[in-house]
Amino acid sequence: MPGFDTVIIGGGIIGCSLARLLAGEGVKVGVIERGAPGEEASWAAAGMLSPSAEAGKGSPIFNLCRASLKLYGQLAAELQAETDLDLGYRSEGTLLLFENEQERETMLPSMEWQRGAGIPIQELSAQETREREPHLADGLGAFYLPEDHQIDNRMLMQALVASCRRRGVEFLLGKTVTEVEHNGQGVTGVVLEKEKISARRVVNTAGAWAGAIRTQGLAPTPIRPVKGHMLALESPDPPFRHVIRSHRCYMVPRLGGRVIVGSTMEEAGFDKSPRAGPLTGLLRAAQKTCPVLAESTVADFWTGLRPAAPDGLPVLGPTAIEGYSVALGHFRNGILLAPITAQILSAWQLTGKSPFAVDALLPQRFGG
Ligand SMILES: Cc1cc2nc3c(=O)[nH]c(=O)nc-3n(C[C@H](O)[C@H](O)[C@H](O)COP(=O)(O)OP(=O)(O)OC[C@H]3O[C@@H](n4cnc5c(N)ncnc54)[C@H](O)[C@@H]3O)c2cc1C
Repeated sequence: MPGFDTVIIGGGIIGCSLARLLAGEGVKVGVIERGAPGEEASWAAAGMLSPSAEAGKGSPIFNLCRASLKLYGQLAAELQAETDLDLGYRSEGTLLLFENEQERETMLPSMEWQRGAGIPIQELSAQETREREPHLADGLGAFYLPEDHQIDNRMLMQALVASCRRRGVEFLLGKTVTEVEHNGQGVTGVVLEKEKISARRVVNTAGAWAGAIRTQGLAPTPIRPVKGHMLALESPDPPFRHVIRSHRCYMVPRLGGRVIVGSTMEEAGFDKSPRAGPLTGLLRAAQKTCPVLAESTVADFWTGLRPAAPDGLPVLGPTAIEGYSVALGHFRNGILLAPITAQILSAWQLTGKSPFAVDALLPQRFGG
């Protein structure tokens, strides 16, 4: 029976980011992944790092999102240097489009709130918007959100896994954890389908599937999947440089002429099959916003399951069982929030306290 200081359940971006940090501090880490690392939500995502575009007025995680974004510059540089992979980390910002005064007014409270917090958000007339992005449709005004970034999340996952391996993280792949085991005093390890693995600490980062992992005497964290459809279009030349968002869709330009278009928000359980209706809706929205995309090639389509808690906020920190913590429910912002989540969880393990005030995100809010 192999033993670890820390076992991490789930090799998505949250699990791998934490594994990398802990291993860098000399902790013996095992990541147990039922498939291959980074093939679920962390693969399906668009890679937007968008504190501004995602924030509603007064968002309780706005500062956490901004703090995480601040960590990305150094993380991307370190990973690129370690692995030689191009992570497509880009800083052009987001254009948040509105078609009419009614749409503008729904965006305004958050924009004004963020300006009050010192973020230099600019409003652009339809003409100014077209000057910045000549291929967008006529008549669209925009808020320019200069702090938002993007990263190629699939390349990021590859780099994270490579970096983890280099730091000595052991990946146990094709293995499903069914239970976190404890002796009443504290965690003793995890139970798999055919074996047990001992560990002094266990972290559940199993994404949308986290609730299926049992722990005697502890109610599972109530995480549910929220399905999103996505597609990729390809043109010989990039049709725009900014991330483009509106009420209808978002479009994320990658290097070369690829554009990621997303996404739907569907309560469909664990069904990941792609459906014609949502994909058609995304294609129409993309073409309406940027007419030249009518000539692009449909290169790919897929779906993913966002891990969501009932209040839509992340669930971070220790549970009532000594040595067992969770990092779940990152919902629409798990790529963005991965670096700060890893810092918080690793500090908790190594020093017993969080570097960031996260009382509102503790798992105990659901009674566990
Ligand atoms: C369509 C879509 C678009 C998105 N766009 C963005 C975006 O632009 N920006 C952003 O910040 N976020 C985005 N997100 C959200 C982001 O992808 C997620 O919040 C994030 O990937 C969650 O990471 P995770 O590691 O918690 O989960 P996952 O990546 O799902 O990883 C969980 C892992 O746990 C494994 N696992 C599950 N159960 C077990 C078990 N019992 N035993 C062993 N292994 C197990 C799974 O196989 C999986 O690999 C998007 C999500 C979707 C679906």
